[in-house]
Amino acid sequence: MSEDQNPKQKKVKAPPQNVVQLHQRCPVDSCGKKPQRSTFCNEHFTWFKQGLINRAGKKPKDFDKKHQAYLQKKAS
Ligand SMILES: [Zn+2]
Repeated sequence: MSEDQNPKQKKVKAPPQNVVQLHQRCPVDSCGKKPQRSTFCNEHFTWFKQGLINRAGKKPKDFDKKHQAYLQKKAS
């Protein structure tokens, strides 16, 4: 009598299915740089802090105005 034990149990590693997609790129239009702070690149993180864009990288309606003011501030 020999019990048929199965020493070689197949351990199937399930591939990770719920991989959280990290932001690979700065979400601001046509930027595409690697995020360095939060989800933004360095420059757009500054934009975010200055209120030029929201967390998702979207520009508000008065973005142009804000951007102008931002550029002026930056230049001064
Ligand atoms: Zn950017």
